[in-house]
Amino acid sequence: MNSSSKIIAIKAFSDNYIWAITNNKSLALVDPGDANVCINFIERHQLKLDAILITHHHPDHTGGIEKLRSYCQKLQWPITVYGPKNENIPFNDVKLIEKDTVNLANLNISLQVIDLPGHTAGHIAYFSNKEDEPALFCGDTLFSGGCGRLFEGSPQQMLNSLTKLVNLPESTKVYCAHEYTQANLKFALTVEPENQVLVDYSQRVNELRAKQQATIPTSIKVEKQINPFLRSHEPTVQASAMQFDNNAQASTIDTFTVIRRWKDQF
Ligand code: ZN
Ligand code: FE
Repeated sequence: MNSSSKIIAIKAFSDNYIWAITNNKSLALVDPGDANVCINFIERHQLKLDAILITHHHPDHTGGIEKLRSYCQKLQWPITVYGPKNENIPFNDVKLIEKDTVNLANLNISLQVIDLPGHTAGHIAYFSNKEDEPALFCGDTLFSGGCGRLFEGSPQQMLNSLTKLVNLPESTKVYCAHEYTQANLKFALTVEPENQVLVDYSQRVNELRAKQQATIPTSIKVEKQINPFLRSHEPTVQASAMQFDNNAQASTIDTFTVIRRWKDQF
């Protein structure tokens, strides 16, 4: 992000985060699943909504589009909805594919589009590589300590998608769409009980959650050290996967496949 803009979480439903990108005048919303909490935010901070960015088609990410759009139209605010080309998104004005750029002129921000099939077939992320603080809006692909369920993609697709994210700068702040961290870390600790960075991180997360504070954003640097789904190449993770499933080989893809299945039933 640039120095004049900031990113604020708007809580929705039980554990969703709708990300607000704002310079105190203009506003862009990422995955507004619920219009009412957004309208509340807009009016409380006296902002002008001019862009909606969608990562994938699930209703907890898209449910607010229609109402926000007509809210803007009533106020005669021009509004643009951005979303993945390969998914059916209501009122999708600009259909995006890998390497497209979204220019939010009013916010002086440009975002790169990254294709991330796995959770859904057409899932995308938005990446800003500006100045000293790169930021990633990755929907339901990467969570702190976990990754999205494979509703429409194969383990290999998801592994490829996560590998793209691992290759972003380590300082990248990761704005995921759910507060799933605590449950994810319970599983991560089962896979890697001896990972001291994970043990320490888990303790910090428990402290934050006890005070009902957000654990998001996380960072690529942290996730590489603690997230089992980014660590399928590690011998410790491979050993755990083989213990869970004797048929698994000591390969990255086998390990990823097994721990994704294991987490589904955890
Ligand atoms: Zn989803
Ligand atoms: Fe979701």
